[in-house]
Amino acid sequence: MVGGGGSKIQRIDKAAIHRICSGQVVLDLAAAVKELVENSLDAGATNIEIRLKEYGAVLIEVADNGSGISPDNYQGLTLKYHTSKISEFSDLQSLSSFGFRGEALSSLCALSNVSVTTRTKEEAIGTRLDYDHSGAITSQQSVARAVGTTVAVAKLFAPLPVRHKEFTRNIRREYGRLLSILQAYALIAKGVRIVCTNQVGKSGRSTVIQTQGSGSVKDNVITVFGIKTAACLEPLELSAMDVGGQSVKVEGFVSKPGAGCGRASGDRQFFYVNGRPVDLPKISRLLNELYRSFNSSQCPMAVLNIMLPTQSYDVNVTPDKRKVFLHMEADFIVSLRTALESVYAPDKYKYALNNV
Ligand code: ADP
Ligand code: MG
Repeated sequence: MVGGGGSKIQRIDKAAIHRICSGQVVLDLAAAVKELVENSLDAGATNIEIRLKEYGAVLIEVADNGSGISPDNYQGLTLKYHTSKISEFSDLQSLSSFGFRGEALSSLCALSNVSVTTRTKEEAIGTRLDYDHSGAITSQQSVARAVGTTVAVAKLFAPLPVRHKEFTRNIRREYGRLLSILQAYALIAKGVRIVCTNQVGKSGRSTVIQTQGSGSVKDNVITVFGIKTAACLEPLELSAMDVGGQSVKVEGFVSKPGAGCGRASGDRQFFYVNGRPVDLPKISRLLNELYRSFNSSQCPMAVLNIMLPTQSYDVNVTPDKRKVFLHMEADFIVSLRTALESVYAPDKYKYALNNV
């Protein structure tokens, strides 16, 4: 018998706790890449390259031209709950960065082999750092590097043998999810060029996502999904709706009536709160339901950014920050329904059918 009433209750050793808990922030391949890309965006990068080997199973490298990391932070970087982004809980209310918990790099160290190459504009040369699973620096050397940071994550999940086996077995599914998360960032990031390449076996590198760093979401939709898909979308702009006393704006694109993307529900639906990619299942349901009333064979695509005061929602609900709690969700859904009904109104439907 293991852990029965007679066994002594004792503290789990620190390294084991770290390994157990790290799996909550970096649940899968997509979460690992998402955390790294968010760090690059937070560092003000305008160019982010994600380079994968074997769909990310062997190596994930995220290189940016952001601020770089200063030598004082080489160690703090991989320590749990060390962040340069907030220092008090109240800072969460006015948060403008993606990160705020200082957990990602510490978790990635526990779950893979991490190395970082970085240079700030104050330094003449770059530095390469290697970290062990506890986040301690094991080697440091000078290397050539333009200003910015490259984080390399090798053999993700290898320290957890069971998880690793499942990971490599399901790598194509994990990779699919990674691409859709990267698409979410690539679509919304204005003025940031995002490129993702993958190398499989001895074949060359193929580019799987590429944006040009345009200042418009429409251009990003065109580069990510192609001009044909973009042409099936209609702009949706709701300015200054009053929702429960808060001013809310919605900006983005939805499928034109009669020109859905013909895929499974939820596929190609991207929701954002103040530019942060999030899951909004109730809004997705609303959209599908309205769309279905006149187009039963397809699902709508959507790229919708909801802009609202930072104190009217919480992102600190789940470890991956994908779930948000909108304080006035019910009121918002009512307002959005009315707005969408006017996009998908019957007379407009006729108009659209003649124009697709
Ligand atoms: P968080 O993003 O919540 O602060 P992370 O573990 O993701 O926590 O990162 C820890 C710290 O490392 C960040 O606060 C930031 O100062 C620094 N950092 C991580 N990645 C980068 C990067 N690409 N460029 C510059 N600084 C970075
Ligand atoms: Mg982070």
